[in-house]
Amino acid sequence: MELEDEAEDVLQKACRGLELPYDPTWSLEEAARRLNVNYEALTRLETYTPTASLPDEVKCHTTEFGHIGVNSWQIGTHLFDTGTNGEQIRETSGQLTGITITHGHHDHVGGYSVLRPYVETAWCPSDQPIDQAETLKHGEICLMSGYQFRCLDVTGHATPTHAPKALAYYTDETEVPLCVIGDAIFAGSMGGCRNAAQYEQLMSNVRDHILTLPPKTLLLPGHGPATTVEQELLNNPFLAR
Ligand SMILES: [Zn+2]
Repeated sequence: MELEDEAEDVLQKACRGLELPYDPTWSLEEAARRLNVNYEALTRLETYTPTASLPDEVKCHTTEFGHIGVNSWQIGTHLFDTGTNGEQIRETSGQLTGITITHGHHDHVGGYSVLRPYVETAWCPSDQPIDQAETLKHGEICLMSGYQFRCLDVTGHATPTHAPKALAYYTDETEVPLCVIGDAIFAGSMGGCRNAAQYEQLMSNVRDHILTLPPKTLLLPGHGPATTVEQELLNNPFLAR
């Protein structure tokens, strides 16, 4: 699966996050230094292919959005995010018992109204007006498909018009520990932020809540391939040091 971002996308996101203008005359090395992203990781991005073997109970549904689509992750009978096409997900999901939303951007909740009638329960982060969903906040533990998931605050990324609260969901009760992270981290990149305050918030949430998970933890992002905490610590230009 293709990565969400190339080196130039990473630099543009870092510029927005630091509220600096992007200077196209910078060399890659100078840009990395000025924008405090890891130069070696940036140069390796083009060939970076994370390896992550998914346990049998984990399935990825990719529906159409942008250049590589949007992922909904199914763990057992529970679906995390609903993509842009609920009908398409239903064709291959089998019976679902619950839905949990990472954040309310439309590519993650587009299939919700189609899928909601088929499940018993639905959850979403505490500030989102999502019909017939119970709200969750950081630190809460929630039973989904028989696994206990801990809710982790990853708020910070945003679209130009919408900066909702965002949660990641972590469990160590599956074959390998895993975390559904929405758009907080992608393999080799992060969600975009509109300003320095959001960028700082996202970086500190990721540092405190995600990078502290066990290194082998599978990270299941909203766009692009699955990865692990340890691979992102080495290969993600925003996170490698
Ligand atoms: Zn997204």
